[in-house]
Amino acid sequence: MTEPFSLRHHDGAMAALASFAGGRLPHAILIEGPVGCGKSRFARRFAMSVLCHNPSKAPCGHCCACKKVAAEIHPDLLVYQGEKGKAKSFHVDTVRQLRAQAYVAPNEGERKVLLLEDAQNMTEQAQNALLKVLEEPPASTVFLLTCQSRGQLLETILSRVTVIALSLPNVETCADILAEHLPDRSREELLLAARDASGSPGLALEALTRENDGKAQGHRDCACQVLELLGKGREAAALARLQSYERDRPGMTALLEAMASQVTNLLLEQEVGTGFSQLQLVRITAIIERITAAAYSNVGGLLLGSALCAGISQAMNDKE
Ligand SMILES: [Zn+2]
Repeated sequence: MTEPFSLRHHDGAMAALASFAGGRLPHAILIEGPVGCGKSRFARRFAMSVLCHNPSKAPCGHCCACKKVAAEIHPDLLVYQGEKGKAKSFHVDTVRQLRAQAYVAPNEGERKVLLLEDAQNMTEQAQNALLKVLEEPPASTVFLLTCQSRGQLLETILSRVTVIALSLPNVETCADILAEHLPDRSREELLLAARDASGSPGLALEALTRENDGKAQGHRDCACQVLELLGKGREAAALARLQSYERDRPGMTALLEAMASQVTNLLLEQEVGTGFSQLQLVRITAIIERITAAAYSNVGGLLLGSALCAGISQAMNDKE
């Protein structure tokens, strides 16, 4: 699923939708809310309620319909959208396709759900085409639209949909939501990310993931440089490169992991000219394993770095 975070801050809106599901379900619902508030996830959760086989406790999360929605393979949940973040990229051709689908009977149950994501990206022509089907809605089809602000849609569309407005949680709740997905991060880091994203869990999660990716690349680069320096016999320079890891235990284990996978790749490539012989690479693998085990016990960062460099240098110099 997209936007993989908890919907607990939308309990009120969820209850409103549940009351529809129990009684008369509007044929078209517009879910409105700022970027990253969880519209997409919310819409899918609602689709799950509509398609669930246990109406008394929908969405039950256990029936085959719920499981198919969660796995994004339910044949009666069809998703349409333009290009992400691009205005006027949701074209009339797409609406024609969905219009054709709207009149086809559901595959599995009594209803089908057509989800139109980021409806604000629809061209005017597309909105007018949608209007036609909203004016004569097929009985078994529920239309779910998401958009950032209802003002981005034509009045004529708005007059035919029931609007559910979602809002952003406060910074504290946003940090709680982030903690469910990133349990390794400190409370301070999560609060900072939540504040930077003005409480948008989606945006904060995106920023933190980007940061994680950046860090992972940094570890790979460093592992590569350290190996190269040691290959040239420059142990002091390699040690200096590791200085920033002395007080960063998670960083050190990530670096060792990156280094181990680089050495494995070199071994598999069996290329001549990498600067390391096969025997040296095998020895280096053993050293990295030993230092990794030490990193998980309480050995200090400085000691780990010097043991790593000394061990690899030794492996390079040993006669074969
Ligand atoms: Zn279910």
